[in-house]
Amino acid sequence: MSHADRILMGPGPGNPYPEVMEAFARPVLGHLDPDFITLMDETNERLRQVFRTANPLTFPVSATGSAGMEATFVNVLGPGDVVAIGVNGVFGERMCDVAARCGAEVVRVEAEWGTAIDPQALLDVHPSPKVIAVVHAETSTGVRNDIAPIGAGKGNALLLVDCVTSLGGIQLEVDDWGVDLAYSGTQKCLGVPPGLSPVTVSQAAIDAFVEKSQSWYLDFTMIANYVTGGGARVYHHTAPISMLYALHAGLGVVLEEGLDEVQARHQACGDRLQEGLVKRGFQLFAQEGHRLPELTSVIVPADRLPDGVDEAGVRHRLLVEYGIEIGGGLGPVAGKVWRIGCMGHTARERNVTMLLGALDEIMG
Ligand code: PLP
Repeated sequence: MSHADRILMGPGPGNPYPEVMEAFARPVLGHLDPDFITLMDETNERLRQVFRTANPLTFPVSATGSAGMEATFVNVLGPGDVVAIGVNGVFGERMCDVAARCGAEVVRVEAEWGTAIDPQALLDVHPSPKVIAVVHAETSTGVRNDIAPIGAGKGNALLLVDCVTSLGGIQLEVDDWGVDLAYSGTQKCLGVPPGLSPVTVSQAAIDAFVEKSQSWYLDFTMIANYVTGGGARVYHHTAPISMLYALHAGLGVVLEEGLDEVQARHQACGDRLQEGLVKRGFQLFAQEGHRLPELTSVIVPADRLPDGVDEAGVRHRLLVEYGIEIGGGLGPVAGKVWRIGCMGHTARERNVTMLLGALDEIMG
C-alpha cells in the first residue's frame, strides 16, 4: 500500500486538504516580495477569523507548535514571575518545563489523566499569578479543559492557552473568553502539514512583555516588525514561504466551508466514532462531558486482543493491512490507551466507517 493511500488518524498530522498540497507546488517568492507580504497579511487576517480575535499581533511562528508554546511563555515570563498551570497530560507538563526554564515560579494544579482541570482550582491556587496557563485540548488524553470560566475569573492575570489540537476543530473564542496568549499548530484541525505555529497576543499581554525576552528568535517585539508590520517590513528571519502558502490555503478551505460548519463536521465524526466504539464494547478514556471530538481516547481492550497480538500489534495491522494510522498512549497510559484523531481533512464519516470496519475484522 502506498503512503499516499494512508489515512492518518493518529494524534500527529492528519491528511492535509488537497488544496494545501497544491499550494506547495507554487513558485517560491522572495520573502520580502510585495506579493508574498500580501499573502502573509491575508494569512494573519484568516488566523484572526479562526482564533475569533481582533488582536493585531496574530501570525504563524516559523516553527512547530512547541515553538508557539515557548514563544508565548518566554515573552511574558522572566525570573521570579508566578505562573499557575493546569496539568492533566503531557502538554500541561511540558508547559511547566518551559515556564521553569524562563525562571518562573510554577504553581501546578493537577487533575488525573483522562479528567478535566477544575477551573476554580486553577483560579484559586495563587492570589496574584502573572500568568494562568492551560491546554484547551489535551492531545495525550482526549480531554477538553474549559477555558471560558478561567477567562471570566482571571482578574489581572494573563490567560495563556494551548490551542494546538483545538483551533478549527472545536469552539474557541479568544476575545470573548479573555484569552491573552494562544498558540496552535498547523497539523491538527487546520488540515495543513506540521511546521508552523499560529499565535495570537492581546494588548494586555504586549503591555506585560518582559523587558528582554530570553529567546532572540522568538522575541515577539522583533518578529512583529516583519510579520505584522504593515508597509515597512524589517527582515527578522527568512519565512518558510511554501509552508505559508500551505497555511493560507488550509485556512481558505476552512473559512470557505465555514468555521462553524468545520467544527460541526469534527463533532459529527467524533460522535460517530465514539458511539461506534461504545456499541462495540470499548470503554472511552476521557471524562464524559469533556471528550474531544477530534481526538478520541479509548481504553485498550486487553481481553479482546487477537491471540498472540498485543496492542501495538493491532495498531501495526491497522497500518499495514488497512492503511490506517492510530496513536498509542503516552506516559502513564502507554500501552493502555489508543488515541484516534479525526481532524481537519481526515474528519470524514467515511474514515470513521473504515476504521470501525477494520477494528471489527481484526478484533472480531
Ligand atoms: N501542545 C499540544 C496539545 C500538542 O498536541 C502538541 C503536539 O502534538 C504540541 C503542543 C506540540 O506541537 P508540535 O509537535 O507541533 O511541536
